[in-house]
Amino acid sequence: YTQAKALVYAKNGEPADVLKLHTHSISPSIPSTSVLVRCLAAPINPADINTIQGTYGSKQPLTSLIGTSEPSAVPGNEGVFEVLATGSPQADLKKGDWVIPAASQIGTWRTHAVFAADELLKVDKEGLTPTQVSLVSVNPCTAYRILRSYGPSAGIKAALGMRPLDVGSGQWFIQNGANSGVGRAAIQFGKLWGLRSINIIRDRDTMEATDALKQELHDLGADVVVPESQFLSREWKDRLAEITRKGREQIGLGLNCVGGKSATALARSLGEGATLVSYGGMAKQPVALPVGLLIFKDIRFVGFWLSKWNQQDVVGRRHMVADILGLMRDGKFRDAPVDEVKWDWDTEEATLRDAAQRGLQGFRQGKGVFVF
Ligand code: NDP
Repeated sequence: YTQAKALVYAKNGEPADVLKLHTHSISPSIPSTSVLVRCLAAPINPADINTIQGTYGSKQPLTSLIGTSEPSAVPGNEGVFEVLATGSPQADLKKGDWVIPAASQIGTWRTHAVFAADELLKVDKEGLTPTQVSLVSVNPCTAYRILRSYGPSAGIKAALGMRPLDVGSGQWFIQNGANSGVGRAAIQFGKLWGLRSINIIRDRDTMEATDALKQELHDLGADVVVPESQFLSREWKDRLAEITRKGREQIGLGLNCVGGKSATALARSLGEGATLVSYGGMAKQPVALPVGLLIFKDIRFVGFWLSKWNQQDVVGRRHMVADILGLMRDGKFRDAPVDEVKWDWDTEEATLRDAAQRGLQGFRQGKGVFVF
């Protein structure tokens, strides 16, 4: 028998209130289509917290499969596991392989699990750390998909046509939440693919700290970095005119991570026929859109949900993950800053719960990742 621990919740609420650490044992007889895995690293993403709170777009089923006293779910949408044993000697997966979830919300915040083999995707671990691999499938994939799929519409002639930004063209995109995992990935892909980026960050406590963050993003490949205080001020119009050479170089795409005033300002910065893709709502404020932008500039407002894309394009997702891991391996894609939370057999429930609770906090040094 394998002794295992998992974070679980039986009802929605704040992670600090509802998460419990559950201990259970896993039988050595594994179903033939399943594998026993051990978790190596599992990130704490904003979506995981929203799922625990019950405010996310999908809910996890509550079950008693791992012997909890009440039907419960294991949170965690992302992670990397090592295969310890397979249910059948003919299985495609082998002991020692690294796998990431192929399906959404399989529950990664646990030391060990038995998963159906088709819930997992094997990755080439060569030259990569568990933390790197654990972070590949949500943030970088979101940035990758949005940048590759959206841009200005073809204009009035193809009213419904939206086309991606042209790789290598130096076309502009603009994003808020530029310091997020998704934002940092978008900066890097933008650079690699010959696009130019305008990046909005929240002001830090001091000018020095804001400048240091600006520099960090420039080092990743950001062309322009703008603190929110300037972005939301009157000055912005002139600065934007300067950046776009008085509108001769229009901004074809906006990435909205935040909502509220920041999203409205993004929309106002866009060029004719541009697309504003909303993928996050960190400010918890609705998006207000001036009607004039819709009518006179024909701007398109769309939402993006990676889970849907993954379901609809399984093969494309596999290629994308391999592509991004390859860039990491070649040193062409830098890791987002992380705050590693060590989880071993003696780690206390409160330590893990607190780490999860910090998952939605702003102004952090890095994303929380459970490492085992
Ligand atoms: P991270 O945890 O890496 O970063 C969070 C970001 O949010 C930080 O840049 C932080 O800014 C910012 N932030 C926090 N609080 C606020 C606030 N009150 N107002 C404005 N900004 C705030 O996030 P991820 O990159 O993992 O995720 C970012 C967003 O994208 C989340 O909403 C997430 O749910 C969403 N997302 C959506 C996906 C989809 O498919 N639709 C897929 C992946 C992510 P600062 O640096 O200044 O603290």
